[in-house]
Amino acid sequence: MKIELQPSRHKRHESVIQRDRERGLFSMPLKSSLPFFRCNQGILIHRIRAGRVHYMNFKPSHTSIEFWCGNSGFMGKGVMMESAPDRAVFCATCEGRAVGAGLCGNREINGRKVLYRPKL
Ligand SMILES: [Zn+2]
Repeated sequence: MKIELQPSRHKRHESVIQRDRERGLFSMPLKSSLPFFRCNQGILIHRIRAGRVHYMNFKPSHTSIEFWCGNSGFMGKGVMMESAPDRAVFCATCEGRAVGAGLCGNREINGRKVLYRPKL
């Protein structure tokens, strides 16, 4: 099941965006994706928060993925997953922020109420 993604945390100055756009360098946000991502070189399963398709010379170049923990990855350097294997190890920061933001139902960890408000 795909999830609706959040806006990217990374903002660029409008003058840089305009200069790059004239060169055919721009990116478009992903609207939805599978919820989890595992980097090929990593051991943790991260939760996907945002993603962008990047263009060079007006052609798709690569897709970047932002995680709830603040780290990022690239398609081709990892894999999106609908669910994780039974023995998978999840990124604690991603899981805590996702629970605190209300993505997983109750905002509780270890029986305590938690709240996470993502910066936009
Ligand atoms: Zn993470």
